[in-house]
Amino acid sequence: MFDVVESGIAFYQNFTGQPFPYRQYCQVFVPEHNSFAMQNVGCVTSGVIEGNEAEYVHTNSPPSSPITFNESYIWELKEATLTKRLKFSLCNLHELCHCWFGNMITFKWWDDLGIDEGICTFLAHLAMVSSPRLSHFNEAAWITFLEYKYWGIGREGFSSCHPVCCQVQKTDMSEILYDGTAYGKCTGFMKQVYKVMGHEAMSAGFKLYFERNAYKNSTVDDVVSCLSEAFNSQSPAIDMGPDFNMASWLRSWLQETSGNVTLEPVLEFDQDTGKLTGLKIRQGLGMRGQNLIKV
Ligand SMILES: [Zn+2]
Repeated sequence: MFDVVESGIAFYQNFTGQPFPYRQYCQVFVPEHNSFAMQNVGCVTSGVIEGNEAEYVHTNSPPSSPITFNESYIWELKEATLTKRLKFSLCNLHELCHCWFGNMITFKWWDDLGIDEGICTFLAHLAMVSSPRLSHFNEAAWITFLEYKYWGIGREGFSSCHPVCCQVQKTDMSEILYDGTAYGKCTGFMKQVYKVMGHEAMSAGFKLYFERNAYKNSTVDDVVSCLSEAFNSQSPAIDMGPDFNMASWLRSWLQETSGNVTLEPVLEFDQDTGKLTGLKIRQGLGMRGQNLIKV
């Protein structure tokens, strides 16, 4: 666990250009926690760091940043197979990443929850494969990553599919956004962005994002403009041609859906007898949907 956390902090500091923003980092296992894990600043429910928040108010020094985990991870660690250690480590790295993306900069509203989760899930994998102390996970990490991609692809085909960033009218509606679109589609797309931009350019884009927005609220527009500026000013990893517009490309993935895939029966009949001789199912791509959650 120390290898994972120390490697993650070193990676995120380097990638974002921002030092770890809190005085202390704690991990707390909470019985019957209703989600697998949650990044918290302050975490006043835990006796371990009780009082830190009050101290923060008086001294203005950074608070500690505990992450709370569902206790199921403790049981899983009793049988520490590679897969279990890998998934627990990725979860650690994901929540740790939220200390930057989520805590240091929080999106203004639930609309942009999906991009926050996608960035943290992708960067957790990138931190893992980039850290020498975690090299034993290298081969398995990108295999696990495929699970996220397939989750996203499957989710996109549902009639309830929605864009990664969409209009959320009430807090209640945000609960349905913790799905394959956020953790799968956006995560897979972030890997695509990384491949197109390259390590240095994507890092430059996020450094710009933190320079402009640290300790403030942001929107998807801020992410798009910083990544686009970095893409246009650095040499990208892949030449996308003269007509490529980075901002439009990012928005098409983040603020639109592919729409539902259509299935259409194609019947074939014998001309003389009129008997059915064949049936094919033709699969077509759907039109892009509206920028709204369909409920
Ligand atoms: Zn998260």
